[in-house]
Amino acid sequence: MKTITVIGAGTMGRGIAYTSAISGYKVFVHDISKETLKQAKEAIENLLDRSVENGFLKKETAEIAKRNLNFEEDMNIAAKEADLVIEAVLEKIDLKIAIFQKLDQICSKHTILATNTSTMSPTEIAAQTSRPDRCVAMHFFNPVHKMKLVEIIKGLETTEDTVAKVKAAAEKMNKETVEINEFPGFVTSRMNCLIGNEAMNMLMEGVASAADIDKAIKLGINHPMGPLELADLVGLDTRLRNMEYLYKTLGEKYRPSPILIKYVKAGRFGRKTGKGFYDYNK
Ligand code: NAD
Repeated sequence: MKTITVIGAGTMGRGIAYTSAISGYKVFVHDISKETLKQAKEAIENLLDRSVENGFLKKETAEIAKRNLNFEEDMNIAAKEADLVIEAVLEKIDLKIAIFQKLDQICSKHTILATNTSTMSPTEIAAQTSRPDRCVAMHFFNPVHKMKLVEIIKGLETTEDTVAKVKAAAEKMNKETVEINEFPGFVTSRMNCLIGNEAMNMLMEGVASAADIDKAIKLGINHPMGPLELADLVGLDTRLRNMEYLYKTLGEKYRPSPILIKYVKAGRFGRKTGKGFYDYNK
């Protein structure tokens, strides 16, 4: 596997592209928004420079990564050479299916199509392509360059060969993997969304301030981040879509907290818009 194409250059697409490029892959990054693609290029190059300055990365590795990165507005050009495509667009099933159908037309027969969905069914997405055996979910975590895990989720038709290949790719990116049999929310999102939602309900009920809820969970239960600051990092719009899907598939336990719905309606998406449960403009 030599070439990875990342579709969607938002929070996760940037991280996956950065990690793939420093791991020696030729990388194509595509987004529907020209402006986002431009911002992604700047953000990835800045991160490469900072990583060198802070001693996390050799100068030579960063230079090779910059040469290996291609930002491409045309999805046909971005995907035609790919051995592996990792889709990281919005958490909307119809959008993911439409992109997989297009990729199925563009890519070579051997190309593996992976989705970075947090909750959704790779089987449902794969079924709309001619290659369900070569479709899989690779669930990366935010921020991708720091988080060790990739959950590999097998759809009904995903072959062991496909799993072995994406596992090898994740390991080349210096990640640990776990293999999951498809079920909504896999292991991590199913657990994490529930914890986050409970914290939001506590905030809404006036049990404690956002800062004290996060502090309690960090110092009392030893989580590295509080559930509310983590939701702000993920993006509250993304989290709401995750909750809506889990509510639809797993039931009442996953009903999105009303405070989450209210914040998203107000445009408070968390860190990416400067305000969520915390104000990042201060
Ligand atoms: P995001 O909103 O930051 O980025 C999504 C990007 O997709 C945007 O840049 C948008 O312009 C682009 N896009 C939309 N339609 C497109 C199209 N037709 N073609 C190409 N690009 C298109 O979202 P994100 O937080 O990066 O999430 C992406 C995926 O990763 C979602 O499925 C999400 O559930 C999953 N995920 C997110 C996190 C997280 O912490 N944010 C963690 C793990 C997985």
